[in-house]
Amino acid sequence: MPGQRYTPVEMITKLVSFDTTSRDSNLPLIDFVADYLKGHGIASHRIPDETGKKANLYATIGPKDVPGIVLSGHTDVVPVDGQPWLTDPFKVVEKDGRLYGRGTTDMKSFSAVGLSLVPEFLKQPLKTPIHFALSYDEEVGCLGAPRMIAQLGKLGVMPKIVIVGEPTDMTVVNAHKGVRSFRTVLTGLEQHSSAVHLGVNAVMYAAEIVHFLGQLAEEWRTMRSRPESGFEPPYTTIHVGTIQGGTAQNIIPRHCVFTWEYRLIPGDDGEQIKRRFDEFVAGTILPKMRAVWPEANVETAVRAAVPGLKPEDGSSAEALCKALARTNEVGVVSYGTEAGQFQEVGISTVVCGPGNIREAHKPNEYIELAQVKQCEAFLRRLLTEVCAA
Ligand SMILES: [Zn+2]
Repeated sequence: MPGQRYTPVEMITKLVSFDTTSRDSNLPLIDFVADYLKGHGIASHRIPDETGKKANLYATIGPKDVPGIVLSGHTDVVPVDGQPWLTDPFKVVEKDGRLYGRGTTDMKSFSAVGLSLVPEFLKQPLKTPIHFALSYDEEVGCLGAPRMIAQLGKLGVMPKIVIVGEPTDMTVVNAHKGVRSFRTVLTGLEQHSSAVHLGVNAVMYAAEIVHFLGQLAEEWRTMRSRPESGFEPPYTTIHVGTIQGGTAQNIIPRHCVFTWEYRLIPGDDGEQIKRRFDEFVAGTILPKMRAVWPEANVETAVRAAVPGLKPEDGSSAEALCKALARTNEVGVVSYGTEAGQFQEVGISTVVCGPGNIREAHKPNEYIELAQVKQCEAFLRRLLTEVCAA
């Protein structure tokens, strides 16, 4: 049976039609891609999560005994809940030279354009293999890719280059910040709100810690800024994203939970941030809480840790992508990607993909068709490249 063919836009439309919001399964999309590849005679490997509800997919086109080039993309998307979408987010609408839909920019288009070219890749004998690496749970802390990366050696020869197709407007990005995020839970003691001296107010102590994080953030901004890093903003940032606590106005709250993160310029000492946080909690907050109630507590757990991508000037991934993108420039981005995880195992990695990060995670997310075309041209040049060497 001949394999099905899709134009790049048709393949983008197809991948976007699967609602792969990170909290849900991505298996329908993975099944589709596996079937599509199988239709073209390509076997794929699934690397599932511990529940079996999600999976990475890894597939190789071309020779199995030489190191290849990975086209890496995450399959999950951020939620559309509460966002004012003008059209169905999971139905691609083409308008004014743009494709609208959740994941068009972040980041189904890169994988889709690559997949649409599979029949082209198969037409000629490749000297260097192309790998597709599709991951799950990138948007919730790059949780999926490490399971696949750990298997790479077993799934064939270790690849030599990874191109992570997150949106960079098809420019070559050789560095990004790392992210570490935490969840801090305060346990206080409830009382009638008139008896403040007998209770331990979890919300107010949380506010003190949040204020301390604000001071730390200000310190990094003003005293440790590194304009030469090229990052925007050019310093390690600290941010509190959510906070919940308390049950009623007249009850001293027992519980408060907040989530926070820092985004680190590669080379900055992030451990120092966590150390100072811990010192403040242990030295300033806990003694006050426990003076009233010895069982009061503050606990902090790591939610996600995504390594930064360190610049490796002149690396093989950088050289290749500069040639394919017809540019001499390299840039940096402040958002995290799976690129640092691939680099950690020793593979030369850059980020280069269609679309602009400004459109990501927003209602009415779109990608310019011109970007899709540019991505297609980039991957067709890659095809020429992998046939030659
Ligand atoms: Zn993304």
